[in-house]
Amino acid sequence: MKNSEVAKVFQDIADLLELKGENVFKIRAYQRAARAIEHYPKELKIMIEEGEGLQSIPGVGEAIAKKTTELVTTGKLGYYENLKTEFPQGIVSLLAIPGIGPKTANKLCSELRVSSVDGLERAINEGWVAELFRLGDKAAHNMLHQIRALRRKDQRIPIGEALPVVEEIMVALSAIPGLRNLTPAGSLRRFRETVGDIDLMGSADNPTEVIDTFVALPQMGQVLAHGSTRGSAIVSGGLQVDLRMVEHHSFGSLLQYFTGSKQHNISLRERGRKQGLKLSEYGITVVTADKLERFSVEEEFYHRLGLQHIPPELREAQGEVEKAEQRAVPKLVELSDIKGDLHTHTQWSDGHDSIEELALAAKDMGYQYMAITEHSAGRGIAHGLSGERLRNQVAEIKALNERLTGIHVLSGIEVDIRANGTLDLPHEILSELDVVIAAVHSAMYQGEETMTKRVIGAIENPDVDIIAHPTCRLIGEREPVNIDLEAVFQAAAKNNKIMEINAMPDRLDLKDIHACRARDLGVKLAIGTDAHSIAHLGFMRFGVGVARRAWCEPHHILNTLPLAELLAVLNRNR
Ligand SMILES: [Zn+2]
Ligand SMILES: [Zn+2]
Repeated sequence: MKNSEVAKVFQDIADLLELKGENVFKIRAYQRAARAIEHYPKELKIMIEEGEGLQSIPGVGEAIAKKTTELVTTGKLGYYENLKTEFPQGIVSLLAIPGIGPKTANKLCSELRVSSVDGLERAINEGWVAELFRLGDKAAHNMLHQIRALRRKDQRIPIGEALPVVEEIMVALSAIPGLRNLTPAGSLRRFRETVGDIDLMGSADNPTEVIDTFVALPQMGQVLAHGSTRGSAIVSGGLQVDLRMVEHHSFGSLLQYFTGSKQHNISLRERGRKQGLKLSEYGITVVTADKLERFSVEEEFYHRLGLQHIPPELREAQGEVEKAEQRAVPKLVELSDIKGDLHTHTQWSDGHDSIEELALAAKDMGYQYMAITEHSAGRGIAHGLSGERLRNQVAEIKALNERLTGIHVLSGIEVDIRANGTLDLPHEILSELDVVIAAVHSAMYQGEETMTKRVIGAIENPDVDIIAHPTCRLIGEREPVNIDLEAVFQAAAKNNKIMEINAMPDRLDLKDIHACRARDLGVKLAIGTDAHSIAHLGFMRFGVGVARRAWCEPHHILNTLPLAELLAVLNRNR
């Protein structure tokens, strides 16, 4: 059972307890546990197998730890099964709709036999709901509106699509005189791989002017709200952006509050309570003096709580508050630490630009090196390189390196790991290259055991340096392959092999929690953009975002090394 599945059960339990009118502390305990488990970087299954106490997870107490163990080891939880029998089926899904409380949900289920959100929508349209509750048309229509909002909320957009849209808006607003702050909050600022609605926060001498400009931007479609300090609109493409203007002197605490995560903020509030401080979006109140302190800068908000500033990417309630208290927040890797790109394609295979064009662009980005890693000629990949063409490319790269200054091109390959686990190119050719990436591109529907063996086979092959996009997922399009990543990481650690964080925004593979686990096990990571054109080199920041969410420091990332050290690690003359 995966962590996300366990989290879902606890969230359901919280909802059912709410229906039952149970004690609010009990309900909150399950909600907290659900959120903590959902984002926990280590698989519960492994923790249990290794005898590691589940209570080390923030928000998981003794009772929930016991239930978790039952759930993970048997796949079922007696308590949950019993609880479910007390209610009509489908009732939990109705509770997710804002404005529908336990009483309404119960009535919808028992009297209209509605058991899903779709069913409710039908019942509203057919007039049954209005009749049951003696509602006017407007109230029933509002319920429909809430259903639509809920559906939109579920549609999360990859960060790679959302961030450029938001940046365009920010550039357009940046010219307004008197604008002092403007930054995204929420999951976008925390760099989650997908985001829902976007919250932008700002402060300005004349906030109304900023809001007026915002709602009138050419990229805005439907305007949902237009006030003096708040504006909300749907950008073409469907992304909802809310802009909230606040007072300069409160900007820091408001930004902190709206950045979240919810669970992180709960941890901070608990900490504050012990210090006699009450936290809110407006600042910190010393309870005994009933005095509100405001914060224009977010850092100071954390300092007031006796904490180091915590980078947004770490605010997921995974021990970051404790680390901040001990002054032990890691110095996370930054984009400027990256010395080169280790995964690129050119016109030689399915890329858009020439080696030289790509190399010069990399030099402009301040890189010391870049690796050319075309596809091999295996089945299913366009224009893959045969051994002979690869040798020609190596010669071209050699000549190019003699001509170019300030950037070194590494010759490499993204060799296909065949369905049977062998590589697509022989040792004689792979051994002539500076770097060898291996990856799965076909037969993705193999069972877990076969797939795991297949990838571990590549890891154990002395010619291989890096495993690219280890789960092959495409966000929102293709599920990850069946693979035992724990076993893969252990093999990588043992064989000193590197796992990739593929920075393509629709891949982000490894994802944050997996990269975190690999790092925990001592596996070195490489961030590669998988660029198929010069523009794609800019994807590096998305990979760095994943690495930061995985608590990576520069020394965890291979391509923060200067060229000479990188070559020493790759140690290709074996
Ligand atoms: Zn690939
Ligand atoms: Zn590639």
